[in-house]
Amino acid sequence: MSKHHIVIGDGLTAAEFATTKICNAGDTLSIIGPNINNLGRGVAYAQAPDNAAWKYAYLLNSPARSVDLAFSDWLNSDWISIEQSMVNRTPDWLLAAQPYVAIGEIASLNAPRELYGDFYHLQTIEKLALLEKSNVRVRRISAMVRDISVNAQQLKVHLDDGSTLAADSIDVATGGPQNQRIAGDNDERSFPELFGHETHIANALDANGTIIAIGASAAMLDLLRFCQSLQAESNLNFTAISPTGRTLEALRPGNTFTPATYELQDTYKRAEDFIDAIKHLQQQALNSGHNFYETRVGLRSLFLDKSVNEFVPNIKEARKVARPLFRHFEGGTRDSIDDFHRLEKLSRTNIIAGHVHKIEQTKAGASVHYTNETGELKQLKANVVVNCAGPGKENRFDALTTKMLEQQWISVCQQSHGLLVGDKGQTSIPGIRYLGPAVTSIGVTAQPVPLYDAFRLRRAVQQFNSR
Ligand SMILES: Cc1cc2nc3c(=O)[nH]c(=O)nc-3n(C[C@H](O)[C@H](O)[C@H](O)COP(=O)(O)OP(=O)(O)OC[C@H]3O[C@@H](n4cnc5c(N)ncnc54)[C@H](O)[C@@H]3O)c2cc1C
Repeated sequence: MSKHHIVIGDGLTAAEFATTKICNAGDTLSIIGPNINNLGRGVAYAQAPDNAAWKYAYLLNSPARSVDLAFSDWLNSDWISIEQSMVNRTPDWLLAAQPYVAIGEIASLNAPRELYGDFYHLQTIEKLALLEKSNVRVRRISAMVRDISVNAQQLKVHLDDGSTLAADSIDVATGGPQNQRIAGDNDERSFPELFGHETHIANALDANGTIIAIGASAAMLDLLRFCQSLQAESNLNFTAISPTGRTLEALRPGNTFTPATYELQDTYKRAEDFIDAIKHLQQQALNSGHNFYETRVGLRSLFLDKSVNEFVPNIKEARKVARPLFRHFEGGTRDSIDDFHRLEKLSRTNIIAGHVHKIEQTKAGASVHYTNETGELKQLKANVVVNCAGPGKENRFDALTTKMLEQQWISVCQQSHGLLVGDKGQTSIPGIRYLGPAVTSIGVTAQPVPLYDAFRLRRAVQQFNSR
């Protein structure tokens, strides 16, 4: 009998669920999301309007080869046309790319995220066309899913237009955790996040406007590139306030690519001991001449076919690994970090160590209240303030994930505070699977770091859908 499979979401994970789903001729595959005509892009690889100054400004956080080898090959083979589409853009991506282009290392570039979206969206469309050719009916539905209900094993998906679809299987991929909120971050001159608010921020920030980013995350680096696309460099006045007062460490490939390899056989009783062992191996790799990027690639390779549990057999201990290991290996986009420090020397950017409490509107902008390193209460004013603080410990999710958590179809891990799903992404309801960047355990397999990573998300879905 023919089946109805539903995928909820329109980002990279949903696209991977849809294109790798094992369907039979006669089945129907429905993919549902608000931006369904751009399936595969989601938040990270979104398409800016053609005339937006910030088009192609945001970059992948790691070199192309680490995101997707096929994409990296495509960059190489289509380089001439990519150069043409990137020429005369500010900030000048081609200039920053030059050292790697000169030695033929295009795979080492942090490509524009929208460009990856162009590539991955096209691939998705092509794969769905093949499914249609094999007599699977593919429906792309532009809508938000309000709810999922289960009655006598019958699954139903309820859309925001009031309609209901019956399903035999449902895959939910509605995205990662949302930015933690800061009092006063959603007002005339303050914004709860950058993505999706670009036009309003651009309108609020004039050519000489000052701006404060709360946080020093990857989103802060995107905000800097956004400002660079709008303001002349001589007019930039950009301050980041974050607890550490430091930018992320740049993932900077060398002239050749030689990933570190870690030989690790022992087992560990405690997460801490395992993390120390990894740090020790990383230090050895750094001492032997590997760069930070290569040590991070080595970490990913170590866990490609092994789980943390193989090294840390106690599941509770294994689940403690994800957050500290993620923080230790967290790196950022070379181009943006280099620009931040270059502009810092020209007093155009600045980073302050501080803990932000609230934002208040003022006549000309907004004022950020924070405690500095020595415990003093301080205020800093700017024309515009943008919250780039990242999810923190709040664990705020989209409405559907929140409902699934409330109904205990999926759960929050007590050790990592990430999300727990069952084997192959199963929830506690037969026929419903879930995956997103916040997941830190799949069945009893503890992830070394959360899945904030296109390569690992896609690989996990491919494994779920393998027979
Ligand atoms: C700004 C940003 C930059 C990133 N940069 C990188 C990077 O450079 N490299 C990397 O490897 N990873 C990066 N990541 C990690 C990233 O999360 C993954 O790579 C990946 O894009 C996540 O895809 P997703 O489909 O799980 O989530 P999303 O991209 O968030 O997509 C989920 C989609 O589901 C839709 N949705 C939500 N609720 C519903 C509902 N109820 N009904 C229907 N649809 C719904 C949303 O509108 C959204 O478009 C980045 C993440 C972000 C947020």
